[in-house]
Amino acid sequence: MDKLQLQGITKHYGRTLAVDDVSFACTRGEFFSILGASGAGKSTLLKSVAGIVQPDRGRVLIDGHDVTKRPIQDRNVAMAFENYSLYPQMKVYENIAFPLRAPTRPRRLSPTEERAKVTHVATILGIEPYLDRLPGQLSGGQRQRVSLARAMVREPNVFLLDEPLAHLDAKLKFQTRTRLKQLAVEIGATTLYVTHDFREALSLSDRILILRQGRIEQIGTPKEIYHAPATDFVAALVGDPPMNLIDGRVARAGDRLRFEVEDAPVPIVIDLPENAAIDRIGGEGTVRLGCRPGDLRIAPDDRGAIRLPIYAIEHSAEASLLSFSLGHDRIIQAQVPGRIDARAGEPVPIGFAADRLFLFRKSFELGEV
Ligand code: ADP
Ligand code: MG
Repeated sequence: MDKLQLQGITKHYGRTLAVDDVSFACTRGEFFSILGASGAGKSTLLKSVAGIVQPDRGRVLIDGHDVTKRPIQDRNVAMAFENYSLYPQMKVYENIAFPLRAPTRPRRLSPTEERAKVTHVATILGIEPYLDRLPGQLSGGQRQRVSLARAMVREPNVFLLDEPLAHLDAKLKFQTRTRLKQLAVEIGATTLYVTHDFREALSLSDRILILRQGRIEQIGTPKEIYHAPATDFVAALVGDPPMNLIDGRVARAGDRLRFEVEDAPVPIVIDLPENAAIDRIGGEGTVRLGCRPGDLRIAPDDRGAIRLPIYAIEHSAEASLLSFSLGHDRIIQAQVPGRIDARAGEPVPIGFAADRLFLFRKSFELGEV
């Protein structure tokens, strides 16, 4: 049986439609992320599961029981928010132990059992040295981990985590997300994890839901989301550097399929394989072509290579990132391993790997995402 089910959840705030008919289910122990931009409705969705927000329509089921009308304390869910609300007058230890002392708990723990649980979670999250401090004596990142520890100490059967790593610096973020995942797996809890960071979602999740203006854009495993994005929106959201998206037309030329960019500074014509998801875009006509920067080749002898002058070049430790202008503020990027020896202005032959191309229907104006 599914651990958690959302059925047709819809929520307005006044005239703002925050969540629009969202349905999905999570299996027991699944790590499920909700990924979307600010304002997409992620927090509202999570709060409907928690019982903090009452949806206008739809149902929430936990272990098959409808909990939509049940108060928060009857749901055995635990939450950690981006703005950690700790009790300022209580020491860190007391803050973390607080949920273990709730009167709704079936059994009161002995002081030894309680200390063992608190210490275990605190150690995994790296805050064990601060157990005797007050929240006011901690940094923002430490407080955020205390809030996370407080959510996880109860070993609830559903964790709701709303951008729990938002205030951590890059290194701590990486460490904490690894530990958080370790704790979730150890406890066997079903986790709903809200983030706007696709890297977090890809690295932690069993599955990811992409939310766009309150609606589901795609649900899939990290692999599916990355290698088979359902829409141009998902393609643009997931990947660094982001996927190149080029608008143009698809037309048949004899027995071949070609993609052509209108009013580019040099003719841009790309041969497409017959299977390039042409069904999805409904045959010939205007389409959006996608290609990840790492899949572009810089190859002088490539048949069908397009020569474009380098607009900008950036080097990192392992790769070079070349940008090319297609005119009208349109840029495409190629990422190549190593340090490429080239200068801005120099024309370079670019090869498109036919088996690494995506075709999409255009669903937003480029530059908007
Ligand atoms: P996210 O967590 O993805 O940033 P939210 O769920 O917080 O998105 O918000 C979704 C939409 O609902 C946004 O347009 C936001 O401004 C609006 N919203 C959220 N909470 C409230 C509220 N309490 N009152 C009015 N509007 C709200
Ligand atoms: Mg939010």
